[in-house]
Amino acid sequence: MAQTAENIHEKYPLDGAALRLATDGTPTLIGLECADCGTRAFPPAPVCPECMSENVRDFELPDSGSLYTWSVVHVAPKGWNVPYIAGYVDLPQSVRVFAHIVGVDAADLEMDMAVTLTTTVVGEGENGTVESYAFTPAKG
Ligand SMILES: [Zn+2]
Repeated sequence: MAQTAENIHEKYPLDGAALRLATDGTPTLIGLECADCGTRAFPPAPVCPECMSENVRDFELPDSGSLYTWSVVHVAPKGWNVPYIAGYVDLPQSVRVFAHIVGVDAADLEMDMAVTLTTTVVGEGENGTVESYAFTPAKG
């Protein structure tokens, strides 16, 4: 069955379709997998970004990957905490995720370093604190 924006929102009310939080707060990112062409992508969508098929399903992404690249952001929309580090993280299964990189100084980042999924406060919105997924250097 094709997913609509409405039923995705019902399934993942906390942070849209891209993030699930377990009752203990453990985050899991949700990606898209196309049953017709095999494309995997993030975030999930009702239509495959490669072949436009609606024969897509969501799947849980691995919670660790490697840092592809990053940049320090000093200017952001009102309410966002700055500066912050924005980066691309490569997860297994050919999915690249754009996210905040937290818990580390930019000077200590290295290409391909191992990172794991976490959550962070990214700023303040009209309804209070805004949290989102992020990646942080893997321990050990
Ligand atoms: Zn496809």
